[in-house]
Amino acid sequence: SLQLNHPTLLKQAGCLLAGQWVAADSGETFAVTNPANGEIITQVPMMGRAETERAVVAAQAAQKSWKALTAKLRSAYLERWFDLIMLHQEDLAKLLTAEQGKPLAEARGEVAYGASFIEWFGEEAKRVYGEVIPSPMNDRRLLVIKQPIGVTAAITPWNFPIAMITRKAAPALAAGCTMIIKPAEQTPLSAFALGVLAEEAGIPAGVLQIITGDAREIGAVLCESPIVTKLSFTGSTEVGRILMRQCADTIKKLSLELGGNAPFIVFDDADLDAAVEGAMISKFRNAGQTCVCANRLFVQDGIFDAFAKKLSAKVSQLKVGEGTLAEVTQGPLIDDAAIEKVESHIADAVAKGASLIQGGKRHALGGTFFEPTVLADVSPSAMIFREETFGPVAPLFRFKTDDEVIELANRTEFGLAAYFFSRDIGRIWRVAEALEYGMVGVNTGMISNEVAPFGGVKQSGLGREGSHHGIDEYLEIKYVCMAGI
Ligand code: ADP
Repeated sequence: SLQLNHPTLLKQAGCLLAGQWVAADSGETFAVTNPANGEIITQVPMMGRAETERAVVAAQAAQKSWKALTAKLRSAYLERWFDLIMLHQEDLAKLLTAEQGKPLAEARGEVAYGASFIEWFGEEAKRVYGEVIPSPMNDRRLLVIKQPIGVTAAITPWNFPIAMITRKAAPALAAGCTMIIKPAEQTPLSAFALGVLAEEAGIPAGVLQIITGDAREIGAVLCESPIVTKLSFTGSTEVGRILMRQCADTIKKLSLELGGNAPFIVFDDADLDAAVEGAMISKFRNAGQTCVCANRLFVQDGIFDAFAKKLSAKVSQLKVGEGTLAEVTQGPLIDDAAIEKVESHIADAVAKGASLIQGGKRHALGGTFFEPTVLADVSPSAMIFREETFGPVAPLFRFKTDDEVIELANRTEFGLAAYFFSRDIGRIWRVAEALEYGMVGVNTGMISNEVAPFGGVKQSGLGREGSHHGIDEYLEIKYVCMAGI
């Protein structure tokens, strides 16, 4: 079982509502399981409408005093929270691996990455500058101030149980907003652990609340409440559409970080080793379960065979197993549905002419372990071209010209991340500008950090997280026109 230096990170009494750790009104709970072995880690509260409504009231009350603090003081709270997260990095990583499955090294990386948003937005809290606009009339002075948007809510996914929360909560709290978080049902323990540390950092009751239970009921209350003025969601495009519809009646401000279908393009002039390295990171990190994972690898004709061979060789070295084992580089997939999707994408691609050059089936370890897979000469008519696989499958598509691959890369309703490898400066500019994506990695498979704006175009979402733009999502602009000067 899970041994933590700070046992309270796992053993709180329920959800964090109005500064108390509480059970559901009904007393009902649901189980959180370890995807690597199916064991139940613990039970968490099954809350619904009534508890969410109370959380909204508490968030509203807490926001009055939270926004009245100086930015410097809010910044200090965030700094303490950041320090505590880094102090307990190892415990948080263990908890994350237990409920999510990723290898411990990746989990440690996520804790640090997640914490970096708290550090960054703690600093940005002090830089919410206004403006003085030169007036067209002599008796007036025109000012712009920025104010917190109010009570906010976050609904987050299971693939980055810490980072997807801190990327939202840190700018919200920095701006002077309060936030109610509904983590994914698969991974609520990391969220609760963040809540424990937020309390220890002294963040006042009601500023940050964490509620688990019936996603639809909790989501409906958060979307429909006129008190909640902003919702930030990371998850599937399908659920994003539902939430956006539900938010229409209250004209809620929305940030949506939805699905991707990232192209990863290797041009003939690429540095082959760098491209293979980039593909490994972009495709196989978190067992392919990230929204910025390369989903379609386009490889130019002249380099195709060499790339396929080198990539397969690297993929064959991945070590599949429980994330707690030091040598493991690929953990289990999150659940059975994930495995079934991967299987159906492979079967469909092969039926449409692809050749399987590495992996391709469930791993001998059983459960939700899957062999890291490479498919060559996949047809653009395959399902895997249109849908996010969210698993350890690298489908290689062959192309000849720049125009052809740009058209293929953009042939999707998604527009989150894209990657390409080339050493030609003209081509780099042309392709970077032509890709209809919110983020483009050139000669790298790893682009996320707290100082850069993360987000998508087209149906991959709305808004940006991280960077100095990230805090704007939690601020309203107020124009003050002072006349009679
Ligand atoms: P995934 O397919 O990665 O699980 P989802 O979009 O289904 O992505 O889930 C992301 C988050 O959205 C989770 O916290 C989940 O509980 C929540 N969610 C799913 N359906 C709804 C819904 N109808 N209303 C509110 N939240 C939802």
